[in-house]
Amino acid sequence: MDKDKELSKLKKKILKFNKNFPKKNLVFADGNKNSKVMIIGEAPGKTEDKLKKPFVGRAGKLLDELLNRIHLDRTKVYITNVVNYRPDKNRKPTPKEINEFKRLLFKHIEIISPKCILLLGATAAAAVLNHIGPLSEVRGKWKNIKIINSYFDILTTFHPAFLLRQPARKKSTLEDLYEFKRKLSS
Ligand code: URA
Repeated sequence: MDKDKELSKLKKKILKFNKNFPKKNLVFADGNKNSKVMIIGEAPGKTEDKLKKPFVGRAGKLLDELLNRIHLDRTKVYITNVVNYRPDKNRKPTPKEINEFKRLLFKHIEIISPKCILLLGATAAAAVLNHIGPLSEVRGKWKNIKIINSYFDILTTFHPAFLLRQPARKKSTLEDLYEFKRKLSS
């Protein structure tokens, strides 16, 4: 598969959703498209919208620090979000938006075809695992899920924006990341 060609086709499809997010920029992805690791967040915030890159604000800095702990950085991972536009007033994406973007996210996963996927927070868990309910039910647990035609190993952990509010949860997030790295290297 020609990844560049497929990614630009996908980008064009996502650009059509711009009409639902007036004056917002498309925040498509960052990192290495050939990585074995795909990280999926919720939706861009103000800084991400401005710089057109995912996870470049405060939560992004924390994500980079956490990834460094398992010797990963943006040259070694691929990062995107469930929703590729910033929802107004920093609100969470609605279930309708999550549902609309899910089809595109699944295509994105198929194109990147990573060995392991890391989901950050409840929105990513809702979109990819269909999980509605407390994050603790899926956090730190590997799932093997069929997306389009292939199975993927998927681990969920806390969202870094949540960790900024609840730093005590960093410890369990690091445990999740060590487990993620173990599977990735196996
Ligand atoms: N939070 C997210 O979920 N994604 C970003 O890109 C930034 C903050």
